[in-house]
Parts: sequence; structure tokens; C-alpha cells
Amino acid sequence: MAIELPPPPLQRGIVNHSSFSELDIEKEAERLSTAIKQPFRWSLETCRSIAPLTLEINQLKKEKDVILIAHSYQTPDITYGVADAVADSYALSKEARDAPQNTILFSSVRFMAETAKIVSPHKTVLHPSPEAGCSLSDSITAQDVRDIRAKYPGLPVVCYINTSAEVKAECDACVTSSNYLRICERLPGNGLIFVPDRFMGKHLQNHLAGKKDVIIFDGECEVHAAFTGEKIRTWRKRASDAGMELQVLSHPECDTDVLDESDFVGSSEVLMEEALRLASAGKKDLMLITECGTTDRIIAESNEDLNLVGACVMCRHMKTTQLEDILQALRNPRPDQIIELETSVIEKASKCLDEMFRLAE
Ligand code: SF4
Repeated sequence: MAIELPPPPLQRGIVNHSSFSELDIEKEAERLSTAIKQPFRWSLETCRSIAPLTLEINQLKKEKDVILIAHSYQTPDITYGVADAVADSYALSKEARDAPQNTILFSSVRFMAETAKIVSPHKTVLHPSPEAGCSLSDSITAQDVRDIRAKYPGLPVVCYINTSAEVKAECDACVTSSNYLRICERLPGNGLIFVPDRFMGKHLQNHLAGKKDVIIFDGECEVHAAFTGEKIRTWRKRASDAGMELQVLSHPECDTDVLDESDFVGSSEVLMEEALRLASAGKKDLMLITECGTTDRIIAESNEDLNLVGACVMCRHMKTTQLEDILQALRNPRPDQIIELETSVIEKASKCLDEMFRLAE
């Protein structure tokens, strides 16, 4: 009987430590440690061990004219060690579109790298971890969009940015968590189809009640679906019993009962801004109901002594990418690390994104 062997491990970048002096490594370790600001999880010793990687990546970016864009949910060694731009989906799609460099390395999940290719079709877009998908993006196909459109003829189809290029190519307008309410409100007509996030679809139905009918799909983000209103009530009560006045900040990919229990709702960037504003106003007991990367960024970018009550959930897809993957993709990308899309898909998906840029301004 033939035995099926597991696939070999993916080839990773190997650092030539002799390229950097001990002094270079020490300085880089201190830079990383100061930027990340988490001495227990990211000790100076840990930073010293990754310093040769960040040094070589930053050197290669300059030599090869590459902009490295990272989503907020990537780990701090990436966001504060090697990224040139860190933000949420909307800001990053603009950053990719306007970047002067000829090569974009997108440290994130697959659909985001595809979005960079759609807005910059003549540039090379590298995605170091081709296996990094997304439960929300994977919940819908282009055929699903064609089917739902046939079921509700005449209604525009709006897709969340967390979708593949093929899905965007079938839709009329794209939105992100920072602009979906406004864009859907501004679309002409008295109805629309919203895909694929059922929770954001529900918020949209509530927001547009009496003005537009909203047909929704049943996809969800496995990270934000893990939170419930019941959990928030329990955590808030525990915090209150311990003498804390907790401020709960949530992402709109969570269910309605979570948002009802929250003090503030917004996209990753907006959540970060609000957390920093609250902290400077003396409200330092904060709970972030989202992926853990947002909490890492608040720690790194706040000068206040914050009390961030742990509730965040890690996204296994976002955390797939490591510095070694980035280094290898920069040195010598494998074919599956270079984003290629059919011209017809790029053209159609680009109209869907252009509609977002037009309606969001
Ligand atoms: S947190 Fe992960 S699963 Fe959720 S939408 Fe983002 S990439 Fe997808």
C-alpha cells in the first residue's frame, strides 16, 4: 500500500548573520524593543534574535525598490520592524494605489494582496504567504454573487473588501468597515444586496431601516464571530467589581448584540484613534473587541500607562506570515508568491473599487 507523505515544509529565508556586526544587531534590537513597547512578550533578547532578519529585509527593500505594506493584524515584529505603511484595509488600498515603488510586498492575507494588484496592475505585488486566506473572504465565490444577483434582479451588489478579486469583479461597489454605512446610504435606489458579512449586513439593515431594503449573505469572520453580548456583559461586570470603569471598543464585524453592549464601534484605525483619545482623557481601562493586532498597535503608539483588559482573539490567517517568509519573498519570490490575476478580472474588479473611492470621498 502506498503511504501518502506530508508535503515538504515551504522554503524559508536563511539569514547570513555575518552580514551584520554585533553593534548593528544590538542597535536594531534596541530600536525594535523601543518601538514594540512590550518588554515581556518581546524582550530585548527576542528582539536581538530577530534583528538580523529585520536588518536584511530593510536593506533589501531599499536595494529592490519595494514598499512593504502590512495590515494592522500582522505581528509587531512586522508592523514595527519592517513595514513602511501599517493600517486597515481602506487606508492600505489607497497606499498601494499611490505608492511610487514598482514592487509592493503585502504582508497580510491573500485578498488584500489581490486588492493591491487590482489598484496597481502594472506593478509586481508579492504576497509572502500564499496559504494565508480568510474565513470571510472564503465564504463566497463569484458564482454565489451571480446567483444572488439573478434572484434579486435590478439590485446593486455591494461587497465588503474582504473578498477575492473574482468576487469583486461581479459586484457594483466595494466597501470597507470604515465607509460601508456611508457608501450604501449614498448608492442610488431603494435596495441593495450586501455580501458576504452577515453581521455587517445586519448593522446595515438597522441603519437603513425605512430607507432601503438590504439583502444579506451568510458569511462571517471567525475571529469577530467569537464574541457575544453575553461575554461582554460578564467581562464588564467583573471589571466593575474590581473597581474599573471599562470602555468597550468593538469592530463592526461583530454581531449586533456585541455592538449593543459596546461604548464605541469602528474600523481598526478608528478604534485605535478612539483608544488613544480616551487614554489621553484619563479613561485608561480599555477592552478591545477585535483581533489582537489592534491592541499591539495601541500599546506601541500610546504614551499613556494603559490598562488594556485582555479579550482580543488572534486570527490564525493573519498570523501565518513570519519575517522569514518576507525575507524569502524579497530575495527570490516563488511563483505562488507573485499575485497574478486575469486582465478581465482586474478590469471589472477595478470598477468596483473605483466606485468605493468615488463614493467614499
Ligand atoms: S480577522 Fe482573519 S478571518 Fe477575520 S476577516 Fe480578518 S483575515 Fe478574515
